[in-house]
Amino acid sequence: MTANLTKQTDFDAIIIGGGACGLMCAVQAGFLGKRTLVIEKNEKVGAKILISGGGRCNYTNLYTSAQQFISTNEHFSKSTLSQWTVEDTISFFETYGITGKEKTLGQLFPESDNARDVVKVFTSLCLDLGQEIWTGAEVKEIEQAEGGFVVSVERDGRTESLVAPKVVIASGGLPIPKMGATDFGLRMARHFGLRISETAPALVPLTITGKDQPWYEQLSGNSIFCRVWNDRISFEENILFTHWGLSGPAILQISSYWRPGEYIYIDLLPNHNIGELIKQEREANGKKMLLAYLANLFTRKFAEALSDKLPVDKNLASLSKTEIESIGQLIHEFKVKPAGDKGYDKAEVMRGGVATDELSSKTLEVKKIPGMYYGGECVDVTGWLGGYNFQWAWASGFVIAQNL
Ligand SMILES: Cc1cc2nc3c(=O)[nH]c(=O)nc-3n(C[C@H](O)[C@H](O)[C@H](O)COP(=O)(O)OP(=O)(O)OC[C@H]3O[C@@H](n4cnc5c(N)ncnc54)[C@H](O)[C@@H]3O)c2cc1C
Repeated sequence: MTANLTKQTDFDAIIIGGGACGLMCAVQAGFLGKRTLVIEKNEKVGAKILISGGGRCNYTNLYTSAQQFISTNEHFSKSTLSQWTVEDTISFFETYGITGKEKTLGQLFPESDNARDVVKVFTSLCLDLGQEIWTGAEVKEIEQAEGGFVVSVERDGRTESLVAPKVVIASGGLPIPKMGATDFGLRMARHFGLRISETAPALVPLTITGKDQPWYEQLSGNSIFCRVWNDRISFEENILFTHWGLSGPAILQISSYWRPGEYIYIDLLPNHNIGELIKQEREANGKKMLLAYLANLFTRKFAEALSDKLPVDKNLASLSKTEIESIGQLIHEFKVKPAGDKGYDKAEVMRGGVATDELSSKTLEVKKIPGMYYGGECVDVTGWLGGYNFQWAWASGFVIAQNL
């Protein structure tokens, strides 16, 4: 490693992180005639954009409102989301050749189904607008100094200290360390004495261990449309059984609201009343076995798995009132106590982050450090599954750019 060089730069701002927030910030700053340098640790920018939505990038959600974001301050995201709306995201991408198609529940994907197109919009625009991008460069420290901030960057075995008047921390959250995720944003928050709202993996599969685990394992690969809830929230989407527990969209959604030690509840047949259905069926077909009946409603495999919990070898006519009630209880209020979650290796986002009361909700500037901004996943604003996290990342990048 050679000696540290300190260099006064002519950038208006240095943006740390070439992800969704940092790239949007650079482009929007460019539109306003401001020069920025994006510093990205990976060899390429936009790593998470590329893998998002199974490589197709669910880049926004038509139903975005502050309600789909978890934060200690539920109002914090409102200003940012109103300054850069879903319509702004849609027309921005349309202007640069990406038409959106809605898949389900308002989720918008590029018509091409290719996340690369999304990244290309930013790399081309950065080039056109003269915004500089350094890849394979990791920011190690930031210090306040005369004229702004000194940003220490390690690149090609050298450490350089760059001085710029403003700095944007858009270095993302902790999920998927093997894709470049670092704790840089949180570490800098601690360094500058900023409060952090407790962080945890979110949009993450939940694990089942102990005596219940084999029951889930036998159903591995089975997917069921359910309502999953706890005392905070409820989601209606599919759940997926796996050999280690539960995944699928409804589980990922509830995971953001689940705390270790708590139960979650699953209605395996939402919007129906199984007790009533059984009563109707047995009038016409009393000899039908409960197993066959459940196999019709669910899959044969799932019905068989219920055999240790329900009298599946009885026919419908012979079921007692109490038995029908307990079938209803099990099907509509299936109780699960997850052992834990799959952690940051499998989480789509980080819950918590830099505390919102440390930031101006209008500009995302750190209140006590003028010229320093936090955006994207670093901040204690966590979206639901379905394109909301990108909407927050684009919007926060835009808002910061207006204030550089
Ligand atoms: C598997 C998966 C699928 C997802 N799918 C979707 C989806 O379809 N829709 C959706 O809305 N959200 C999705 N998300 C969430 C979404 O990717 C994130 O919320 C979003 O990328 C956050 O944007 P960001 O700019 O804050 O952080 P990131 O996009 O993570 O960017 C931060 C960048 O900073 C870089 N960095 C970190 N530390 C340093 C440092 N010290 N120096 C230099 N660079 C640094 C990182 O390498 C990274 O490139 C998905 C996430 C995952 C993991």
